[in-house]
Amino acid sequence: MKFENLLELIAKVLLPLTYTQTKCAHDKITPDMEQGYCPDCGKLIVNEWYITRCNCCGVKMKAMLKNGQIVPQNHYCTNCGSHDFSIEKLEQINFIDINFAALVKREVEPEPIYSTTRCWQEKTPEQPKLLVQYL
Ligand SMILES: [Zn+2]
Ligand SMILES: [Zn+2]
Repeated sequence: MKFENLLELIAKVLLPLTYTQTKCAHDKITPDMEQGYCPDCGKLIVNEWYITRCNCCGVKMKAMLKNGQIVPQNHYCTNCGSHDFSIEKLEQINFIDINFAALVKREVEPEPIYSTTRCWQEKTPEQPKLLVQYL
């Protein structure tokens, strides 16, 4: 194995493990990207846009992230004065909604189906050995 490949492996395997200690802001995943692997932590990051909407009159409220939660920037609706709001996920961001939306950089976990299949395949060759022992 080449040294550069080893470094790449370390970056892909070990760096995500240390992720919990140093929380990565995924700064290099810019808002214009739909998704991408963060070069700092190696995680697959999906950019998701959310807006908040007044539950009373349905007007869009400017959303922001506060302690990891999506909340409206204003406590009360500027249109009707209501305090209730709902969160709406946008399928695509456009130039109107971008003024209202909050960006959430969601970490995508690797496909769990893949790892289960691999475990099963690795265990299969061990079975004949066990049979031999019982005989
Ligand atoms: Zn990151
Ligand atoms: Zn309202």
